[in-house]
Amino acid sequence: MDSFSIRLYGDPVLRKKAEPVTKIDATLRRLLRSMAQTMYDADGVGLAAPQVGVLQRVVVIDVGEGLLELINPEIITSEDDKELGVEGCLSLPGLVGDVYRSQKVTVRAFNVQGKEFKIEGEGLLARALQHELDHLDGVLFIDKAQNLRPAQSQEE
Ligand code: ZN
Repeated sequence: MDSFSIRLYGDPVLRKKAEPVTKIDATLRRLLRSMAQTMYDADGVGLAAPQVGVLQRVVVIDVGEGLLELINPEIITSEDDKELGVEGCLSLPGLVGDVYRSQKVTVRAFNVQGKEFKIEGEGLLARALQHELDHLDGVLFIDKAQNLRPAQSQEE
């Protein structure tokens, strides 16, 4: 299976707004499979298409509860309660920071069959959803983080 090289901070594609997916076809399914492979190869918990140079609203996440593939995801509700947590990004290796994120979000998206579904995320999943959806709008965690610092091995 193909995997991509991950675009690193400084690559202008990371700052662009991704376009909605208009056609769920074999090409898109191949993109999702390769994105998942790339995420697992890099030991990440999430990856957004702009991170592999594709400006489409597509995200893969796996926080240890199985692979989630999200097409045209949108946050429809988010809890006002925010919590500070450590975050890093495959496009900024070796760097972590503390970011306030909603503790709970509900996201609406389409799956590879073109079926709409909703997912409710709490804790790490809520954080990953917010982080990855930010990528689709060219927003990086360093824009929101405090106390940016080199990653320690126990935080990776
Ligand atoms: Zn990221």
